[in-house]
Amino acid sequence: MKHCRSCDQHKPLTAFGRRASSPDGLQQKCRECHNARALASNRAWRRANREGLRAYDAGRSSKPERQGSRAAAYAIRKAANPEKVRDFNAAAKAKQRAGGYYSRERSFPSSSPAARAARQSARDAQKVLATPSWADREAIADVYRRCAEITAHTGVPHHVDHIYPLRNSLACGLHVHWNLRVIPARENLRKQNRLPALDGVDATGRISI
Ligand SMILES: [Zn+2]
Repeated sequence: MKHCRSCDQHKPLTAFGRRASSPDGLQQKCRECHNARALASNRAWRRANREGLRAYDAGRSSKPERQGSRAAAYAIRKAANPEKVRDFNAAAKAKQRAGGYYSRERSFPSSSPAARAARQSARDAQKVLATPSWADREAIADVYRRCAEITAHTGVPHHVDHIYPLRNSLACGLHVHWNLRVIPARENLRKQNRLPALDGVDATGRISI
């Protein structure tokens, strides 16, 4: 729990946005207060600059490339500046291939239902292989039940996380209850297949000794 200076309430850590420069890595105000303030100051600014904004919008919407569809606008831009459009597209593709922010695999999992089903069944198969015969299946089911309860109770989506991931190049975790924990979904997605921090092994599984 963390105290919000703005609404004077104690809220779970997940109710606070991230802020790298704070000692605890979180914003001082809860998301709700933070957003309310941002919205209010945006509205105030728009009110104060109403005339300028109106002129700006009018200027934009009267441009020839904004008269038709998005596709038509793209065609107009491409015809006017073929090299610029080509370079922009090439740069975006390169960034995607490099696995950076725009990498489809990492940041934007394919939304195709078939691709998602394939990933899920590969993961299920992994769980079967990683489940020893002596695993306590009731205890495993309990963890998943607790996860659903926490999600329903807090309204924050939670996932069941394998503390030692099932798929890691150094160590493969087991699908047993003591390797499971319930964490917020966002944290789990960030963690990917990394190992917990160990002496001499960094979070990506590289050995540093
Ligand atoms: Zn607050």
